[in-house]
This record gives sequence, C-alpha cells and structure tokens, in this order.
Amino acid sequence: MIPQAETIAAELTASEAFGEALKIAVHHAGEVDREARFPSQAIEALRAAGALGWGVPREFGGAGAGIDQLAGATLELARRCASTGMIFAMHQIQIACIARHMGSSMWWGEYLGRVVREQRLIASATSESGVGGDVRKSIAALAPAEENGGAMVVFEKKASTISYGAQSDDLLTTLRHNPNAEQSDQVLVLTLGEQMELTPAGEWDTLGMRGTCSPGFTVRARANREQALGVPFATIAAETMVPYSHILWSHVWLGIASDAFQRAQNFVREQARRTAGVTPPAALRLSELSAKMAGFRALVEESVKEFLAAERSTFSTMGYAVRINNLKIAASEAAVEMCQGALRVCGLAGYGNNGPFSIGRNLRDAYSAALMIANDRLHATNAALLTVHREAR
Ligand SMILES: Cc1cc2nc3c(=O)[nH]c(=O)nc-3n(C[C@H](O)[C@H](O)[C@H](O)COP(=O)(O)OP(=O)(O)OC[C@H]3O[C@@H](n4cnc5c(N)ncnc54)[C@H](O)[C@@H]3O)c2cc1C
Repeated sequence: MIPQAETIAAELTASEAFGEALKIAVHHAGEVDREARFPSQAIEALRAAGALGWGVPREFGGAGAGIDQLAGATLELARRCASTGMIFAMHQIQIACIARHMGSSMWWGEYLGRVVREQRLIASATSESGVGGDVRKSIAALAPAEENGGAMVVFEKKASTISYGAQSDDLLTTLRHNPNAEQSDQVLVLTLGEQMELTPAGEWDTLGMRGTCSPGFTVRARANREQALGVPFATIAAETMVPYSHILWSHVWLGIASDAFQRAQNFVREQARRTAGVTPPAALRLSELSAKMAGFRALVEESVKEFLAAERSTFSTMGYAVRINNLKIAASEAAVEMCQGALRVCGLAGYGNNGPFSIGRNLRDAYSAALMIANDRLHATNAALLTVHREAR
C-alpha cells in the first residue's frame, strides 16, 4: 500500500521515485520509439512512485493532485518520452472524469481505492469507426443483458483507436445510453479487464507517438449497470474530459517542444565553445525560437490558471468551449513549429535520427497533435459557436 494520502501533493513530482521514473523514461525513449513498443519500464516506475493514483481524491487513498500538479508531471515526462507523458496524461484524464462525476456511489469509491492500491492503468475508447474523432457521437450502445433482471449490461464497440488498450487494466468507453438513444445521448462506462474482450483491428506502426500503442480494437464487454457513470456524457465532456484533455495534452506537446529547444540550445552552445569570442549564426534563430517558446509556455500555463480559478459552471459556457478548443489548436500547431525551428538551428545534426541534437522523434511525435481530435473538427465547432457568441479573449 502506497501511503499517498499523507503525501503533500505539491511534493509529488519532487519525489525520488518520480525522479527515477523520469530517468527510466529517457533511458528507454529511443528504443520505445524504434520498436513501437509500450514504455513498460517507465510505467512500472510510475507505479512504483504511486503516480497512477495521484489524481484520485484523498478520501479514496489517492494524492488528490490538482490539474496543475498533473500538468507539471506530464510536462516533465513528455520531455523525456512523449509516449510515456501521453499515457500518464490519458490515464489521469480518465481518473478526473470518474472522480468529478461519480457522485456518492459506493462502487466508484471502492474502484478508485483499487486504482490506488493496485496502480491500475485506465485506457479510453471514445473514437469509433463511423464517427471518427467526434467524441460527442456514438454508434455502439449499452444494452441490458438478457439474464439477471437488467442488472447487467453488455456492449460491443468498434473503437478506431485505443492507446495502450492491450496493456491497460480497465477501459472507459463512450456509448449510446440505450439501443434506441440518439447518437449524442451518451454514457461513460468503465469495464474491468476481466469483464471485456479486446480484439485488435489493425496495427500501430505510425510516424510518431509510437509507444502509445494505439491500434483499433473491437471491444465486447459485460458489466454491472452501476459501472455507467450516472451523469450524461455531455456534462462530463464539457466539465472535465475536454478541459482536462486539452490542458494535459498541451503539456505533452510543450514537453516535446521544450526538449527540442534544449537540444537546439545545446547545439548552439557547443558551436560557441568551438569558436570562442564569435556568436554562432544559429544563435539568432535560437533567440527567435526562445521568444516563441515563451509564448507557447504562457499559453499553456494560462490554461491551467483559468481552469483552477473557474467555477464549474464556466466550463459549459460557449466562451470557455471556444477558448479550450483554441488552446488545443494553438498548442498542437506550436509544437510542430517549435520542433521545425529547432531543426533549422541544428541543421544536419538535427536531421539525423541519432545523436544528442536529433529532432526527428520530437518532430514525428509533434505531428500527432493536430490529429488527436482533428483540428478541423475543432475549427468547425468554434466557427459555429463564434457566429452566436462574442469571444474577446
Ligand atoms: C497518438 C494518438 C493516440 C490516440 N489515442 C486514443 C485513445 O486512446 N482513445 C480514443 O478513443 N482515441 C484515440 N485517438 C484518436 C483521436 O483522438 C481521434 O479520434 C482520431 O485521431 C481521429 O481520427 P481521424 O483523423 O481518422 O478521424 P476524423 O476526426 O474523422 O478526421 C478525418 C479527417 O476529416 C476531417 N474532418 C473530420 N470532421 C470534420 C469536421 N467536422 N470539419 C472539418 N473537417 C473534418 C479531419 O480534418 C481529418 O482530415 C488517438 C489519436 C492519436 C493520434
């Protein structure tokens, strides 16, 4: 049992065990990318640090970490290994959806206790063949099982992408409320490993984010009815899933960009050492990049401050929806721009796949950002919102 409730949340990322996880993540990052394999050593190290329970409220044995602490941890992990950072972020997003919308249910309280004790890893199945990345639509539906007087439910979902689906312990899935419900009338259902069968559909051999191991799966599951959160998914999406996702993902992308910037800075420093007294020409580009990085960092940090300062009702407003979508669009584009800038600084040394100045993995990982919920979809949503809402920020 990890004594998390006694741990002061602010000290989590400063702990020796988390520091060890960072070292392990960076040590295996190249191999995880080359082999497109799950970063098992880093995730085990996070388990050893108790980190999979950080977002769980203290009353259930977790550390009760806020989005600021989770974002800080995500950033540091993603600087070392973007896939590990993304897996940590996605898991914490699922925890937040549960913890903020479970009400007073005993079942969910016990489940969160298990997450902390057993360091269970939770994956997410929102995307689906037929609706693409529109999280607010589902085709698969929750249906009553024939036996047990309706206490049990079943579903089958063709999920187009589930990160670490094969390595996770449990899964949170969006589904239509019942077989007659509209596509947007959704619930969020948690299924334990032993309650489901995941059949892989395709492989995950991608440009970047290779360690997230995110192929499609057909999910067939059977669960107790109480494993569906009692609040409509529309509310969970607006108040928690979308803000947590866009904020934590942005920290992953900032982490990727920060590592690229650091590589570029190291490159320029080495050049400067070789030509003492002369500022290397690439230093100018580095300075430009530094100014852009400051803007990127400020954007991402501001999103955390706004989230922490806001009342819950704010998250359902049109203004917040526009702003949180803008964060995702801007951060996903900034990540690629920063990596490209770092590549220009490092030149051929950055173009090589290996070596301390290589920007290849950063750039490939960063390209996933615009696709994780297609930016065009978010632009389409914002375009509609902006026709009726005046957003000044
Ligand atoms: C690294 C990574 C990990 C992921 N992990 C998970 C996971 O764990 N669980 C999960 O459920 N999903 C996951 N996803 C899926 C992701 O969140 C999106 O659902 C998915 O990337 C969308 O796939 P798509 O681009 O094929 O589909 P779509 O969103 O349908 O987009 C296809 C194309 O259509 C365009 N398009 C679509 N709709 C519109 C619109 N309304 N207006 C304008 N253009 C539009 C897009 O620009 C795009 O070019 C992951 C994705 C990545 C890259």
